[in-house]
Amino acid sequence: FLHQSWRPERSVVLGFLEEAEPWRLRSPQFPSKVGGKPAWLSQRGLPSLPELECETCRLPMVFLLQVYAPVSGQDRTFHRTLFLFCCKTPEKGLRERGFILWIGQTSV
Ligand SMILES: [Zn+2]
Repeated sequence: FLHQSWRPERSVVLGFLEEAEPWRLRSPQFPSKVGGKPAWLSQRGLPSLPELECETCRLPMVFLLQVYAPVSGQDRTFHRTLFLFCCKTPEKGLRERGFILWIGQTSV
C-alpha cells in the first residue's frame, strides 16, 4: 500500500510503503500499491499481452506498482490510476531497463 501525502502548493507527492489489509488493495478501494497483481479500475479496456511486451527483449513485463491519481473536474477521468510495468530481464542494469506506464481511467 502506497501512502501519499499531498503538498499542493509545491506539487510534490511523497510516498512511502506500509503493510495493508488485503481488502484495502482491491479494486473498489482504488488502491495505490507496489507488487502483487494490478488492481484494475475496470475489466474493460485492459492492456493486451503484446502491449505489455518489452520493446527490447520481447518478454512480457511485470507489474511493478500503481498509483491512484484522479483528475478532478473531468468526468471522463474521474477515477484514474497509473500502472507501471517493468522488464525483468536480469542482464540489464536499471538504467536501461524498460518501463511501460499504463493509464487506466473510468468515469463515475
Ligand atoms: Zn526487456
